[in-house]
Amino acid sequence: MPAVPQFLQERNRQILTKGKDAFDIVGGQPSLAGAVSQRACVYCGSRVVLYPIADALHLVHGPIGCAAYTWDIRGSLSSGPDLFRNCFSTDLREKHVVFGGQQRLFDTLCLLIDKHRPQAAFVYSTCIVGVIGDDVPAVCKQVQLLKNIPVIPVMAEGFQGSKKDGYRIACDALFQLIGADDSKTIGEFSINILGDFNLAGELWMLSEYYRRIGIHVVASITGDGRVNDIRNAHRASLNIVQCAGSMMHLAQRMNEQFGIPFRKVSFFGIEDVADALYQVATFFHNQTLIDNATLLVREELSNLLPQLDVFKNALHGTKAAIYVGGAFKAISLVKALRLIGVSTVIAGTQTGNADDYKLLKKLCDDGCILVDDSNPIELSEFVKLTGANLFIGGVKERPIAYKLGIAFCDHNHERKVALAGFQGMINFAQEVYNTVSSPVWRFTRPHLAP
Ligand code: SF4
Repeated sequence: MPAVPQFLQERNRQILTKGKDAFDIVGGQPSLAGAVSQRACVYCGSRVVLYPIADALHLVHGPIGCAAYTWDIRGSLSSGPDLFRNCFSTDLREKHVVFGGQQRLFDTLCLLIDKHRPQAAFVYSTCIVGVIGDDVPAVCKQVQLLKNIPVIPVMAEGFQGSKKDGYRIACDALFQLIGADDSKTIGEFSINILGDFNLAGELWMLSEYYRRIGIHVVASITGDGRVNDIRNAHRASLNIVQCAGSMMHLAQRMNEQFGIPFRKVSFFGIEDVADALYQVATFFHNQTLIDNATLLVREELSNLLPQLDVFKNALHGTKAAIYVGGAFKAISLVKALRLIGVSTVIAGTQTGNADDYKLLKKLCDDGCILVDDSNPIELSEFVKLTGANLFIGGVKERPIAYKLGIAFCDHNHERKVALAGFQGMINFAQEVYNTVSSPVWRFTRPHLAP
């Protein structure tokens, strides 16, 4: 393989080739001006975390564009209320920028709470609100007293940093709810699931696995989330954290404040799903739970493995480029792809840290390009360099793949197919197979250089 071209010198320590470069990627650095990062803004980061709380009001205090940008941003499903799918905005105009937007925020909040009767309200502060200095917490406090529901300011002005800073702000907002209620009945063995957003009903599949083992899910934070479940989340015995990038801060705060231990897990790929179930079953030191988990995994695998073999034969020789938000997903994807005969030649994330990249480096084969906080130009060049013929990413990576004329699998917000759990592994293999084997690529491959 030819040498990786040099793009921006300041990014040298964020790109390496496994087996060739001896250094480790640091990760977690601010994006470089001019590098056109794939990362979203702070406000967007907070919005994607809080959005799936289905019975809450989500009000964006800012110009209409910030709200439109994140309207229905995740395909999160709800088993009940759908208030969350509305995108409310104070629609700030020039006169509010000049004279202030607090009164407009107060009026809008009161009107929406009276009309929709939410269990709580989240108020997102955007860039311009940070600039003009509206006192959002004061307005929230005033409305909370008046309407007698939690009204939580999410001080996530977009210019503060990157999407990852928004995750932290969202965790702090959630923490204001936790511990506020004791009314829910809690099972003997209880957990909270942190960091699954129920994109295609996955949270329901995972909850069902735990129910079969004998474990009660107190709160799902935030997929198919409910305000009162979150208020009771302090009473669970264990937190399991899937999307560690977004939810680790909350797990740590709950550990400090309420003494709830946490385990990092992933529900993507066979090994990781099985591990997530065993980790919880063994945590409670209860033989029945361990036996139930063993039985469940055995039953699911006996159904799954013969089906996977078919895909493995068909996909042998496929080379994948992975570029996703969180590192936990990239790590699981490398393992899951290997199971179906696909090798990973590019692995990158928006928000990975040094430890994540060390793990990725260990997991990937020699020659794999690892990249932190990449951009469309770099990713396109890496695809050409490695000859990847499958791209796995999200909405911003889809056009990169299609412009290069290679197959694409959506593993992010917009997908409609459940990719977590054991059934998710079959769905994932099917999705990969469908796109890689599409006849359309016969017409586009000639444009793939070199
Ligand atoms: S960067 Fe600022 S203006 Fe743009 S969407 Fe984010 S909060 Fe809104």
